[in-house]
Amino acid sequence: MSHWLPVLVHTPAHAALGPVLTYRSEQLLPAGTLVRVPLGKRETLGVVWDAATAEATGEFDPAKVRDIAGVLEGIPPLSRAWQQLLSFTAAYYQRSAGEVALAALPPQLRELNPEQVARRLKRKKVDAGAGGAVLAAPALSPEQAAAIAQIDSHSGPFLLFGATGSGKTEVYLHCVHKLLAADPDAQALVMVPEINLTPQLEERFKARFAPLYGEQAVVSLHSGMTNPQRLKSWLSAHGGAARIVLGTRMAVFASLPKLRLIVVDEEHDPSYKSGEGARYSARDLAVYRGKLEGAKVVLGSATPSLETWHHSRPAVDGGRYLRLHMPSRIGESSRLPLVRRVDMNHQPRRAIFSTPLIAAITERVARGEQVMVFLNRRGYAPVLTCEDCGWKSECPHCSAFRVFHKIDRTLRCHHCGFTERVPRACPDCGNVDIAPFGRGTEQLEEHLAELLVDVRRHGSVTPENPDGEHVRIARIDADSTKLKGQLEEQLAAVHAGDVDVLVGTQMIAKGHDFRRITLVAAVNPDGALFSSDFRAPERLFSLLMQAAGRAGRDASLGAQSEVWLQTFQPEHGLYAALKKHDYPTFAAQQLKEREQANMPPFSAQALVRAEAKTQEAAQAFLNAARTFAQTEMAAWDGWAEALAQVFLYPAVPMAIQRVANIERAQMLIECPSRATLQQFLTAWQSVLHATRSQPECKGLIRWAIDVDPLAI
Ligand code: ADP
Ligand code: ZN
Ligand code: ZN
Repeated sequence: MSHWLPVLVHTPAHAALGPVLTYRSEQLLPAGTLVRVPLGKRETLGVVWDAATAEATGEFDPAKVRDIAGVLEGIPPLSRAWQQLLSFTAAYYQRSAGEVALAALPPQLRELNPEQVARRLKRKKVDAGAGGAVLAAPALSPEQAAAIAQIDSHSGPFLLFGATGSGKTEVYLHCVHKLLAADPDAQALVMVPEINLTPQLEERFKARFAPLYGEQAVVSLHSGMTNPQRLKSWLSAHGGAARIVLGTRMAVFASLPKLRLIVVDEEHDPSYKSGEGARYSARDLAVYRGKLEGAKVVLGSATPSLETWHHSRPAVDGGRYLRLHMPSRIGESSRLPLVRRVDMNHQPRRAIFSTPLIAAITERVARGEQVMVFLNRRGYAPVLTCEDCGWKSECPHCSAFRVFHKIDRTLRCHHCGFTERVPRACPDCGNVDIAPFGRGTEQLEEHLAELLVDVRRHGSVTPENPDGEHVRIARIDADSTKLKGQLEEQLAAVHAGDVDVLVGTQMIAKGHDFRRITLVAAVNPDGALFSSDFRAPERLFSLLMQAAGRAGRDASLGAQSEVWLQTFQPEHGLYAALKKHDYPTFAAQQLKEREQANMPPFSAQALVRAEAKTQEAAQAFLNAARTFAQTEMAAWDGWAEALAQVFLYPAVPMAIQRVANIERAQMLIECPSRATLQQFLTAWQSVLHATRSQPECKGLIRWAIDVDPLAI
């Protein structure tokens, strides 16, 4: 007897249409079963879907229904909770369930035929581990013990608000250990923002848990892995052999049939938000998933996102999250770094480094300590100019300047990649004096080498060796780490003490545990104070706190570590709070401003971005859909009330209006309620699809909705 089977597939061409297609099968297969099905001329991976939980299956003609091609035998069906998570993600972020679900599965699963999968499963033999081995863990600090007691006795979600070095990771390890010991099937998911941080974390978790549960108990999932590695981790998590999955944002979709605990470390980090396809927030989905599956959720940060902080305020909503505070650093490194502000109004006008900062760097280096200098701009100078005629190094394809890279004497566009040799003279007037304007990390590196040319490293100036050794300066940014392995190599050099001064972009401020760095300097952090992006101060504060957290971890150096800020706004509240390491005061200021301006977390936002051959077409598309919402939709039955709450701003060009000759525009939508906004977007989707074909939108290339956007 044959059955009609709803199967979820990814059909890019019809993303807006129901992605659940009907197939015929001799066997009745439960929802969640992985199958291969014919789709047009090809064969593709599909997931048997519970039609009731997904978008309704479209009409189908029984005469045209095709047979499924095969079942991926040996792989148990994906759980109902997993299906719900994927359905929710698709609905909330306004994408098709087929796209989201298939993207959440390991790529190799899409390529292999059922026999190949079966062979792989057979090879994977579960290692039972040593069971009773003892746990080599440090005795908990009172703050850690208190936090763990709270996690044990409440259901969460929890915000673990702990200073850098307060022992948050130790708390995660402890919670995971308790869980695994108490329940022989339980699984934990631990997420970190950056791929670069997974090896460190993996080492720590493996050291702790491999002796207890075997090597296979801990697996990683991130985009830096090869497809076979990813498939292996995924199968092992799905089959239950992996007890702990460590990963980046994509890991939030890992299939974990016995998931009981989710940790989101550095929960404030913007990289938890996906920038393409379904623009999901893995942090927000983790909270949702926890509720769905009855797993405890622990969000950890020294500088929580203001959304999370707001949810953990006891006064708000009766405290949606439980806040656990660990203010003290562990052990002797407990002294927090001293934050110093240098008033750049009193320095020579174009000074890159203030005199006192150079003196401080010199002193540290001479003592054999390490220094970190950061500036969030790579290249030598952000623009090259001709002072005679005003020519600037614009990119011909983008509304942006090309950056001057002195190392290879190129002008490079950081948006479209367009690269040319630096011209010998001004292309417009022939003036040979074209000069860099502004500065980037390359220039800092060069300038520091000049300033420190006479400085000698610690211990190396002796009568036999009067010249001593020169200061070693290294630069880490996206340019210096383009090749695979370069970043690891450079980081290893810093750890090994082969570098005295490290110059870099925010890449170096995050997460890495540079124990011998005792001075961190932010050369020009003010930009974020005046940014049009309302989240810029929040990001700056967390970045500087992170950077401060890097400083002075090695107590044996005995040095008071310092964070230096060169600023024209020394009295600014952000820096004042930073000086006191006072995140709560900073957060309170920011939340007050946000509340007054009706910004998140006091409202929900979505952004529609449109790309077109002309700016007019991009804006016309957005504005037509807006007008439709305000007129036609408002007249639909029962919609007037909801629409009265939804505020659609007029379309505007994006901050960088043109990239690679494509014009970009965006429209912001705001609503006091997330639920109403979602309801509106779901209905409005079809309007956007229909608007596309209007004559004034000719030249529109693509559009996408970003729910809860991070950058506006
Ligand atoms: P965080 O994740 O908050 O930055 P970690 O968990 O990495 O902090 O802890 C910082 C350092 O202190 C690590 O070297 C860790 O091994 C150590 N540590 C953490 N908890 C304890 C403890 N209870 N006793 C001794 N050392 C600890
Ligand atoms: Zn000129
Ligand atoms: Zn360009």
